[in-house]
Amino acid sequence: MDHFDLRDGVLHCEDVPLPLIADAVGTPTYVYSAATMVRHAEVMTDAVAGAGNGEPLVAYAAKANSNAAVLRQLAGVGLGADVVSVGEYRRVRSAGIAPEKIVFSGVGKTEAEMAETLAGGLFQFNVESVEELRMLSAVAAAQGRVARVGLRINPDVEAGTHAKITTGTADNKFGIAYQDALAAYAVARDLPGLKVQGVTMHIGSQLVSLDPLQAAFAKLGALIGALRGDGHAIGVADLGGGLGVPHGDDQPDPASPAAYGEMVRRVTAGWDTRLVFEPGRLIVGNAGVLLTRVIRVKPGARHPWLIVDAAMNDLMRVALYDAWHEMNAVRPSGAQATYNVVGPVCESGDTFAMARTMDRVGAGDLVVFRTAGAYGASMSNNYNSRLLTAEVLVDGGRWALVRRRVDLDDLAGVADPIWR
Ligand SMILES: *Cc1c(COP(=O)(O)O)cnc(C)c1O
Repeated sequence: MDHFDLRDGVLHCEDVPLPLIADAVGTPTYVYSAATMVRHAEVMTDAVAGAGNGEPLVAYAAKANSNAAVLRQLAGVGLGADVVSVGEYRRVRSAGIAPEKIVFSGVGKTEAEMAETLAGGLFQFNVESVEELRMLSAVAAAQGRVARVGLRINPDVEAGTHAKITTGTADNKFGIAYQDALAAYAVARDLPGLKVQGVTMHIGSQLVSLDPLQAAFAKLGALIGALRGDGHAIGVADLGGGLGVPHGDDQPDPASPAAYGEMVRRVTAGWDTRLVFEPGRLIVGNAGVLLTRVIRVKPGARHPWLIVDAAMNDLMRVALYDAWHEMNAVRPSGAQATYNVVGPVCESGDTFAMARTMDRVGAGDLVVFRTAGAYGASMSNNYNSRLLTAEVLVDGGRWALVRRRVDLDDLAGVADPIWR
């Protein structure tokens, strides 16, 4: 469910008509609904309430959308954060997310990143290799602090999603191989400065079926038993993120958060651990659209080319993952047409859809890409010397520019360098 609806024939975000934002800020612009993201945060929190020991920690995966205003909204409804760089750590802290609600994931944490986040405080480092354990141990010992650790286990299950967002098979760089887990925990136990408290996993993104998650959780449960048999005190199980969002009528609907929560309760009953979740897309995916204007319609061999002013640099998901985004006119006439939809960037990969039947539009008309709140603006770049997309947050009848369209001056580089 989202808060983007037609009113009197004009697409609104909550109570704000989208043409008003396009006129004020220009296009392309991401537009986010505060009510939608807050609702999804509450739906997820409710879905897992009561699972595991104590309060589950819902740590929003900040990479999905790391705009400061978005983080502030989610902090306000009690979410924690899963961060993958010190930059994200700084952003979530300045948005008001408390250290004890932050987990730090990723295969390439540097010594400097470990040092800053350990000193600043966090709930847990999700460590992905024995080599990383050794570095973290040295950093913690040098600071005289104890780093709380969960080891990310790669359960080697197929997530049934796009290859580029599959993370939990033996061919992915993530985590410690399942069969090596006991040995890695044995190393961790003997290293100074570490408190090994948990197990973690994350098998992929935009998962539609619960089956691969359930299979991976079952393997994790077996591992918890084996680890306790070896004398490790495992008190935390971080189940990662990955639950998909609906992308429109033509796409398979993912399992609901409620069904996910029910499955989690069933599979984790008896684990005797606190549970951590790392949803990203589920929280913000449907809370955003990319608002764009049609530049022109160019005749094509099979279908006309609908050339919009958003491009692959603004929304990379189609070029990167073959993602499917529903497109709607902001003022639909009721007529339909079939287009190849492309942006202005000089790459054939700058194609949003081929042979897409959608609202008929013409030059100057506004169009939205739906479900663009996750992995949209956070992946945007300035390829072709395009300006970084603006972002707008809507809250009821009011709206605010929450990232200006970053200028060329900031992005251009230095023509007369200071040589050293
Ligand atoms: C990206 C990521 C997530 C979030 O995935 P979603 O599919 O957006 O829920 C969670 N955990 C880790 C470790 C990630 O890398």
